[in-house]
Amino acid sequence: MLSVLCAVARRQLFCYDITALVLVVQWIERSPPKAKMAVRICPRAYNYFTRIVSVKSKLKLKKNPGLKDFQRYIAAMVQERGFAEETIPEMFMLLMEECGEMAKAARKMAKIHTDKNSEHFHLDHEVADVFMYLLDICNHFDIDLEQAFRDKEKINAKRTWE
Ligand SMILES: [Mg+2]
Repeated sequence: MLSVLCAVARRQLFCYDITALVLVVQWIERSPPKAKMAVRICPRAYNYFTRIVSVKSKLKLKKNPGLKDFQRYIAAMVQERGFAEETIPEMFMLLMEECGEMAKAARKMAKIHTDKNSEHFHLDHEVADVFMYLLDICNHFDIDLEQAFRDKEKINAKRTWE
């Protein structure tokens, strides 16, 4: 198992090799000391495994959440799923990637021609992905999105739109 873990760490194992990944996850889950060892050997690989296989999550989004609740949820989510170390360039690249997927899904829904062999995305899922990364970026820069929205709308309301 360690060799599989190390292979992933060295990016020699590709994500389509699900069988190997599932075996590693089962190995880790059966033994907390091994999980700890896996984290020590390669936190990145371990995070990758836990993203693929559902783990017990403590995340809960309250009913009728406000924007602050969403921001709090995302702050907890990035910790739980091991994304907290993402750099600013990574966060922006991921946001742009999700924007691309959202555009692709919108093209499909608008029946604009898309390559048959290309990946298909669901617009509602991609909008959610974009929202999540936007909130993540807001959290990173300590931006209260609700307040930012109100402030910017005050400015926009005074603008002349031609
Ligand atoms: Mg997406």
